[in-house]
Amino acid sequence: MIPRNRRVIDLTNIENNMKLLRSATPPQAKMMAVVKADGYGHGAAEAAEAAIRGGADMLAVASVSEGKELRDKGIGIPILVLGAVTHYDVKSGVESHLIQTVCSEEMVRWCEEEAAALQQQAEVHLKIDTGMGRIGIATEEQRDRILAVLDECSHVRMTGAFTHFADADGDEDGISYTRRQFQRFRELTAPLPSDVILHCCNSAAIHRFPEMALDMVRAGISLYGYPPVPTETELLPCMTWSATISYIKELPPGSFVSYGRTYRNDQTIRAATITCGYGDGYFRSAGAKGYVLIAGKRAKIIGRVCMDQMMADITDIDNVSVGDEAIMIGRSGSEKITAEDLASWAGTISYEILLSSGSRVERIFR
Ligand SMILES: *Cc1c(COP(=O)(O)O)cnc(C)c1O
Repeated sequence: MIPRNRRVIDLTNIENNMKLLRSATPPQAKMMAVVKADGYGHGAAEAAEAAIRGGADMLAVASVSEGKELRDKGIGIPILVLGAVTHYDVKSGVESHLIQTVCSEEMVRWCEEEAAALQQQAEVHLKIDTGMGRIGIATEEQRDRILAVLDECSHVRMTGAFTHFADADGDEDGISYTRRQFQRFRELTAPLPSDVILHCCNSAAIHRFPEMALDMVRAGISLYGYPPVPTETELLPCMTWSATISYIKELPPGSFVSYGRTYRNDQTIRAATITCGYGDGYFRSAGAKGYVLIAGKRAKIIGRVCMDQMMADITDIDNVSVGDEAIMIGRSGSEKITAEDLASWAGTISYEILLSSGSRVERIFR
């Protein structure tokens, strides 16, 4: 039997997307697969393994606990924690052989203390802020002080340095801002030893600025088939999301549907109730503009999305029965709804849609 609400993950598409990104990236650059936030909702370990099959050299996560989870599942390739190292997590990060991100002298000292106590080497990448305004050292003075501290710390090895673009998917202004960020990154990293891996490209920059690939690129959203800028690389989405029609009824003219009675029909309609609501991760705000796919056709959502159910108008769709599938993200016949469509109805971005799964939604891997 098929669960009432499910997200089906196509791991072959993740693997193929990684291969496509690999071939679109200059060969000297290593490929980092970003699998933070549970692999953008696709399952961190499963997405990581698929990306490794597709040629990923390294992985990136947001926190030590995300990295440790991958280690516990037997993943051995280098893993970078993108967030700044915290005093709370540093020990566990060293123990799990994660590469931690440093951007202050204090952070380097935490790594040194824990690594010395564990009689291990801590590996770190230096984060440089070139215009994102989030984390990272931003001046030559800060850089030189941190390099001096690193020199004193025999248990800490800096193997990489990176920056993050704020507007690589932006308009013309965003493009010139990205070029300035890149230039600044080159200036601030110029004195670093040549074996330090330099990396700055996120998905948008991978597509737009292959000349900025340097020693490694960090592929997130594009790995999951949602490139944030137009590209000729034929990446495929890796997630479909569907639920079940639990009830079908005919509503006479003047009937109301759902909370607040925001929907009222003028003519007789047929309505389907679907086992998906905001408790499953459907954005309540998407209800007013949204559709689902039923039997190869678009069915308009009517009335407010509830916690566990929503209703759709199936008056013009023939041969629909209880138990049939309703698709929130995916294809049916010649119709499709992407995470980007759903994002535009909800007023957000595809990233947030991919991550929105409720805990009761079953994940199925293909
Ligand atoms: C999340 C993240 C990425 C990946 O970004 P995408 O736009 O999903 O490719 C890359 N680098 C850093 C530092 C990040 O936080």
